[in-house]
Amino acid sequence: MDPQTADYTFLTAIARGWGLAIRCHACDQERRWTDKDLEERFGSRVETRVANLRAALVCGCGGRSVTLSFYQAGGRDTSAATGVDVEEKERKLRGARA
Ligand SMILES: [Zn+2]
Repeated sequence: MDPQTADYTFLTAIARGWGLAIRCHACDQERRWTDKDLEERFGSRVETRVANLRAALVCGCGGRSVTLSFYQAGGRDTSAATGVDVEEKERKLRGARA
């Protein structure tokens, strides 16, 4: 699951309960945004590609080179990460934006 090469949007990630891990190349610190964090930050523009975020991110150390990766965020039943539940969630997220 590499958002730098894949065409994932925030919608895809949030609906599947994925969090985003941001690792700085300069200081090797990792920041994690859960799916809830992503929904809070990007709920109004869920169809943005996650990879687009990369250029805008700056680490606390000033580093601008980061690696993004998805992880399965906690607090959610992973069985919900496929099928009907995902579609339902995607529909809701789209609706909330409209
Ligand atoms: Zn850093």
